[in-house]
Amino acid sequence: MLEKTLVLLKPCTFERGLIGEIINRFEKKGLRIAGMKMLQLDDEILAEHYAHLVGKPFFGILKESMMRTPVVAMCLEGVDAISVVRTMTGSTNGRNADPGTIRGDYCMSNQQNIVHASDSPESAQAELNRFFRPEEIFDLGSLNMPRLYALDEV
Ligand code: UDP
Ligand code: MG
Repeated sequence: MLEKTLVLLKPCTFERGLIGEIINRFEKKGLRIAGMKMLQLDDEILAEHYAHLVGKPFFGILKESMMRTPVVAMCLEGVDAISVVRTMTGSTNGRNADPGTIRGDYCMSNQQNIVHASDSPESAQAELNRFFRPEEIFDLGSLNMPRLYALDEV
């Protein structure tokens, strides 16, 4: 199914000059960019976004690290995009993430781990609504679709 998913390029990625390189990996894979912008996160949005981690001892430093610079938010679209992007992202801890995944190739940290990616259809929907207004996500129509997929795949 054609899906949309949310990716955040975290402050560590911005600081290390890896924004273009990471966007390039998603582009080369064949995911279509349906939305993209820079924004500064704050306490409120991070408490919502990381609600499942609010009670953890590392929540404070996680929040600080996510506010250090602006982040780049992307809406990526493709067939099974949610699971495809999670697979490309790799395990949370960069030290354990497989080589070939983004975290496996670009980081050594369990926290400064380059990207956030939605983990299910429910969270993708909620997270896209959290970070994008409806008019910031573009209808790409059939753009490039015949090159990306067979006719019976979409
Ligand atoms: N995180 C952390 N310490 C941990 C687990 C997670 O700092 O022990 C941070 C890390 O940046 C991670 C984010 O919290 O990406 C969200 O955690 P989650 O378990 O949802 O991992 P993800 O979905 O990003 O792989
Ligand atoms: Mg998560």
